[in-house]
Amino acid sequence: MDAVLFVANWKMNLRLAEQEQLVRGILDACTFAPQVEIVLCPSYTNLPAVADMTKRFPVHVGSQDVSARHVGAFTGEIAAEMLKDFTVTYCIVGHSERRKYFGETDAEIRDKIKACLANDIVPIICVGESFEDRQQNQQDRIVTEQIRQALHGVVLQEKNRIVIAYEPVWAIGTGQSASPEVAAHMAQVINQVITDYLHDSASRPQQRPCVLYGGSVQADTIQSFVGNGYAGVLVGGASLHVEDFCHMIQVLID
Ligand code: PEP
Repeated sequence: MDAVLFVANWKMNLRLAEQEQLVRGILDACTFAPQVEIVLCPSYTNLPAVADMTKRFPVHVGSQDVSARHVGAFTGEIAAEMLKDFTVTYCIVGHSERRKYFGETDAEIRDKIKACLANDIVPIICVGESFEDRQQNQQDRIVTEQIRQALHGVVLQEKNRIVIAYEPVWAIGTGQSASPEVAAHMAQVINQVITDYLHDSASRPQQRPCVLYGGSVQADTIQSFVGNGYAGVLVGGASLHVEDFCHMIQVLID
C-alpha cells in the first residue's frame, strides 16, 4: 500500500528561531514510519534551515510556491531550479490564498506546474470552491474546471508525479472542515477528472495522480478523509503545533 501523504503548509508564519523550535520539537517527539510520508513546507527564507535540520530524517521539504518562469531577470521571483538547491521535492501550487490575494491565474498555475515537473518537483495543485460557489451548487463544475485548466497541455512523463489537493476555500482556517460525505463526493469528482485527463492526454505517468484533502484538518477529523477517497491531507493551522502535528501523524500510523 502507498504511504499516506501528510503535507504541512506553514504559510507566512514563524520567524527563523520559531521555525527551528517547531522542527526540533517535531523531530524529537514524532514517530516516523513508512506508512506516512511527511512533507514540510516552510516559507522561502526558512527553507535552508528546515532542509538542513531534516536531512537525516525521513521527511521531505516542500515549497509553498514557485515562479512560473525560469532563471533570469525576474526580480523577486524564486525559480524551481533554485528550490532544488534546498532539496525541495514537493511544491504547493495555486493555493487559494495565492489565487485570491495575488491574482494567480490558471495560466500561471499551469506554468508553475510545468516548471516543477521539469525539475523533478512534485506539484501539489490546490483546487476548491468558494462559499458562494457552494451556495450556488457550482462546486463540481468549478473544481473540474480548475483541474482541467491546470493540466491543459501538461504531458506527464513516466517519472512525473502530481498531487491534487481539494481545499474548499470555506474550510481553510475556519475550523469547519468538509463533512465526510461532501469530501467523498468531491474526491469522486476529482478522480473522474483525473481519469478523463489520463485518457485524453498523452500522459503516461507510472503513478496515478493522487488526491489530498485540506481545510481545517485536525487529529479528530483526519481519518474521515484518509482512506475515504483521499491519499492524504494538507494541513495548515494544526501543523504549527508540535503536539497536534505528532498526534495527527500518530493517528495515521495507528
Ligand atoms: C491550507 O491553507 O492549506 C490549510 C489547509 O489550512 P488550514 O488547515 O489551517 O485550514
